[in-house]
Amino acid sequence: MATDTIRVLIFGAHPDDPDSKAGGIAALYSQQGHQVKMVSLTNGDAGHHAIGGAPLAWRRRKEAAASGACLGCEYITLDNHDGALLPTLEVRHQVIEIIRAFEPDMVMTPRPWDYHPDHRYTAQVVQDALYMVTVPNVVSRVPHLSRNPIALYLYDHFQKPYPFTPDVVVGIDEVIEKKVDALHSHTSQMYEWLPYNRGALDEVPENPAERRSWLRKVLEPRLSRPADLYRDKLIEFYGEEKGRQFKYAEAFEVCEYGAPLSEADLKRLFPFFN
Ligand SMILES: [Zn+2]
Repeated sequence: MATDTIRVLIFGAHPDDPDSKAGGIAALYSQQGHQVKMVSLTNGDAGHHAIGGAPLAWRRRKEAAASGACLGCEYITLDNHDGALLPTLEVRHQVIEIIRAFEPDMVMTPRPWDYHPDHRYTAQVVQDALYMVTVPNVVSRVPHLSRNPIALYLYDHFQKPYPFTPDVVVGIDEVIEKKVDALHSHTSQMYEWLPYNRGALDEVPENPAERRSWLRKVLEPRLSRPADLYRDKLIEFYGEEKGRQFKYAEAFEVCEYGAPLSEADLKRLFPFFN
């Protein structure tokens, strides 16, 4: 492994969470030959109106792997039940093992303030695993890390108790179609469960090509929101002209429980701003 390879580990609760929040930056890293791994802490076996259990979990696992293939990264789903994740020692130890095995420069996680309990507990568990990855007697069967990784929160729109405050914003226009392709891979989410859950199942086209363009339109407000919200940061990082042009971006906030993000780290770990 080249020493200048950047290693990024992105956690989410469900198959489609890591790529929804960081699929663009994952594609940018992969294009440059860096290593990204996405991990869903649950197997996604609850979020559906017509199927469930193991058949749903297997479908979600395959869809996640297909999404990872679109982005050029590995995408795994753990076997914890969906809708039932708790911040237990067992799950913390699973996360510690994964972080230690991957040896990431950066870990990305949701924040602990979110509408879904699985999202909140994913954040709790990842925060709980940080630092402990450096403690030799914790999960002693896996060698500990000599250094706590940098940790970043993924964007969300929740305002209480603290609104998301980005430290880094990355323009993703050049890979936006890859991100949509990745999300398009989650058939059981994008075309079945999520439309059902919002009462819009009858709007979903039958034809796969029509579905992809329907999804693109449905996702547009969500995909473009971070660039609009954090335009000043885009200008700060890319300069006035380029910063104004981005339609799509992903935003990240430093989590204080990881290693601090120094100016040198920022330059090395985000090779996108020239
Ligand atoms: Zn989710």
